[in-house]
Amino acid sequence: MARDAIILGAGVAGLSTAAFLQREGWKVTLLDPLGPAGGASFGNAGLLSPQTVIPAALPGMWRKVPRWLTDPLGPLTIRAAHLPRLSPWLARWLAETRLARVEANAAALHALHAPALEVWRELLGEADYRAMIRQAGQVQLWEGGGPSPLEDALRARHGIRAELLGLDELQQLFPGLSRAVTRGLLVPGNGHVVSPARVVRALADQVLAEGGAILPQQALKLIPREGGGWRVLANTAVHEASSVVVAGGAWSAELLAPLGLRLPLESERGYHAHLPAPSIELRLPILHKSRGFGLTPMEDGLRAAGTVEFAGLRAPPDERRAEQLAAHAKHLFPELTHGTPRLWFGQRPSFPDSLPVVGPVPGRPGLFLCFGHGHFGMTGGPASGRMLASAMAGRPTSLLDALAPARFTGSARV
Ligand SMILES: Cc1cc2nc3c(=O)[nH]c(=O)nc-3n(C[C@H](O)[C@H](O)[C@H](O)COP(=O)(O)OP(=O)(O)OC[C@H]3O[C@@H](n4cnc5c(N)ncnc54)[C@H](O)[C@@H]3O)c2cc1C
Repeated sequence: MARDAIILGAGVAGLSTAAFLQREGWKVTLLDPLGPAGGASFGNAGLLSPQTVIPAALPGMWRKVPRWLTDPLGPLTIRAAHLPRLSPWLARWLAETRLARVEANAAALHALHAPALEVWRELLGEADYRAMIRQAGQVQLWEGGGPSPLEDALRARHGIRAELLGLDELQQLFPGLSRAVTRGLLVPGNGHVVSPARVVRALADQVLAEGGAILPQQALKLIPREGGGWRVLANTAVHEASSVVVAGGAWSAELLAPLGLRLPLESERGYHAHLPAPSIELRLPILHKSRGFGLTPMEDGLRAAGTVEFAGLRAPPDERRAEQLAAHAKHLFPELTHGTPRLWFGQRPSFPDSLPVVGPVPGRPGLFLCFGHGHFGMTGGPASGRMLASAMAGRPTSLLDALAPARFTGSARV
């Protein structure tokens, strides 16, 4: 049987899958109208979080929903016009806040994320890994409050080391930090990339060097061929292969709907303000939990990235949310100066349980999925790609059960 695959999407998920499939001897062709790292993989906060197991849906969060509806610049906002379409996803998300679901989702996140740094090293090779990835840890900050007992318990259950930092320690680590910060938590096992775009484009270079193709085309329709395999109608060509991998990030569900596969994928839109000439040097990246953004030292400046906006795939960006991130950075470090921020907007592909779908589509031989990594695609995308390539080569792992599309469709056949 021919071992060739068309991969839809050249973000971190699609490119990781492609690179690992090539190592299994497959011929790969990627289609992406934006080119490598043109989507969420371009502008994220670059945090690599093998030691992060806390899903987004946690008990008691429903109490915050009214506030999210009223503050357009808050850490999480919902545009009122999108609420009717969002409601079914939100209902599933609220169901995921039950304790048993939180525990199951945390266990799956742990299994997916734990090997993240090892998989990046395997993908990039030692020299590129050292050049682009830092393993110095991450610090979470709060203004009022702190990690909940449930979050502490989940970390403890999965053997994750985290150290509470006092105010003096915080000031030593981050001179000039605002006195508004009341709590800090160091997670030493986490890390970050110095440029999300560069690291993902390094994967693209590798795929090309190994004989793969990356074409600037948009897939429009997937058609199963009689006798096996798939035909992909793209905007300027038609492609055929034995297998198709859908790795189109937040756009993936639209490609699958005509096949009758309806998955509750939502775009959690996020923004960044990239500060090109910061007057401070951060030793470690910061994840500001109260304001919902990361502040990451990158090779070309400081990046404030994050927050969540539910407005659907096609609503225009609200640049005020990106500007707000620059203001947040300044709030955190009142003496900070930084030059003109570069603003960016992107779409996280998110399922209600914070887990991606990875694996084969039952009843559709040769069709595979690898998307929905939400807030953690730079962390979990490569591990998903490795797992999927291994499954396509006939070596499935048990984690695929937790990530299977059937968890939403309720049946083995979709
Ligand atoms: C503000 C922000 C901050 C973030 N911070 C972090 C972080 O610190 N750490 C972390 O781990 N994760 C983070 N993430 C999440 C992470 O960026 C995503 O989970 C990850 O990039 C998703 O990768 P992907 O390849 O699935 O999607 P994408 O990178 O979006 O790639 C999907 C690609 O599919 C292409 N495509 C879509 N439709 C089609 C079609 N019909 N045909 C062909 N191609 C198509 C698109 O053009 C796109 O290039 C963040 C995200 C955002 C928005």
